[in-house]
Amino acid sequence: MSAPPGPANDRRYDYLIVGAGFAGSVLAERLASQHGARVLLIDRRPHIGGNAYDEPNEAGILYHKYGPHIFHTNSDQVWDYLSQFTEWRPYEHRVRAMVRDQLVPIPINRTTLNKLFDLALQTDEQAAEYLASRAEPVEDIKTSEDVVINAVGRELYELFFQGYTRKQWGLDPSELDKQVTSRIPTRTNTDDRYFSDTHQAMPLHGYTKMFEKMLDHPLIDVRTGVDFAEIKDQAHEIADHIIYTGPIDEYFDFRFGKLPYRSLKFDHRTLNEEQHQPVAVVNYPDPSVPYTRISEYKHLTGQDSPVTTITYEYPSAEGDPYYPIPRAENQALYKRYEALADSTEGVTFVGRLATYRYYNMDQIVGQALATFRRMDERRKCLGEPLATAVAAE
Ligand code: FAD
Ligand code: UDP
Repeated sequence: MSAPPGPANDRRYDYLIVGAGFAGSVLAERLASQHGARVLLIDRRPHIGGNAYDEPNEAGILYHKYGPHIFHTNSDQVWDYLSQFTEWRPYEHRVRAMVRDQLVPIPINRTTLNKLFDLALQTDEQAAEYLASRAEPVEDIKTSEDVVINAVGRELYELFFQGYTRKQWGLDPSELDKQVTSRIPTRTNTDDRYFSDTHQAMPLHGYTKMFEKMLDHPLIDVRTGVDFAEIKDQAHEIADHIIYTGPIDEYFDFRFGKLPYRSLKFDHRTLNEEQHQPVAVVNYPDPSVPYTRISEYKHLTGQDSPVTTITYEYPSAEGDPYYPIPRAENQALYKRYEALADSTEGVTFVGRLATYRYYNMDQIVGQALATFRRMDERRKCLGEPLATAVAAE
């Protein structure tokens, strides 16, 4: 998995795919299994799986190197596709927020209100009435502040969202697109699940095993520890077509300037206790706490062990790019790169970093499957040999 491709082991591939996360791996699998294409898949990290990579640590606990990844989707198509490569462990994600020295459900629900304000709201109607009495209607909801103030009012906004968001993004919610906090609903019932999708589960043996199965195909060669920058000049000698899933600004040598991405530092710790916290994730919206959340993996995996592994997340401006930052000026810069990408022949840009979209795993799988479908239609429509058909993508 380590020798970089080059003149010494020159072999022509149909595709060079950059990045072995969901976007790159799904496309590698589809193109090899459905088109009989020869694929070289590279990643600069020493492993496959992208940000979803998990591995057992020294204590034998399966942990997520890049923070907790919980699978959820409403798409049967995405669910059925991934189910070819893994069995699932049923798991519904629950999160608590540490607010005023109490652990309360987030998304805010009836239990949150009762606990925090010492109320006895019994029904959805009572909770809705209570929230309506606190909410400050915003006519034109544009920002992530507007979304929350409009739903629950300023006090709850400050307690749950403002501090967390400022830490997570280095920006006030008023400076972020509404899509960021719109991810979190407000509930009047007592449902304390983080997601309400029809499919919620964890890959039974972990994400990395699922990726290994996906990429286990004789027409797919995987080389980890290889940066595209090292082979960029020869890329079109290696393969007819490139699929690029890394940061789009980096591909174009930051021609229009850097696209902002938010990073995180992960502090993984193994503790000599069986369970550290009551749920997999506890959020810390308090601005005086430097981290945003603590995750405990055994809740996700159901692993049995006398010890447990947790991860603290510290947001950071420096480091690997993890999150595109949704706000108008960044989108405008991305659009310039996108126009450049559209006019660049022989390269397809897919994935969270390459399309600068705050997408979950299932949305990236959906995006990659849609990209494959377009390639497939073009190939059928042209009725041409593979290489010619894809070069026109
Ligand atoms: P990535 O997984 O980032 O893969 C891109 C790969 O390309 C990387 O491995 C990178 O090393 C490689 N690469 C980049 N540039 C180069 C280069 N020049 N040369 C070689 N290789 C290169 N989604 C959910 O659905 N549920 C969750 O609970 C969830 N939790 C998350 C928690 C965190 C902390 C983060 C950061 C994300 C989370 N996500 C979650 C989102 C999820 O990680 C992404 O949707 C998904 O991993 C995106 O897949 P991708 O293939 O587009 O990108
Ligand atoms: N958020 C918040 N407080 C919380 C949970 C979420 O302010 O307790 C905001 C914050 O801006 C966060 C966004 O809602 O970045 C989306 O939350 P999500 O849990 O979906 O973030 P991710 O898992 O992508 O990091």
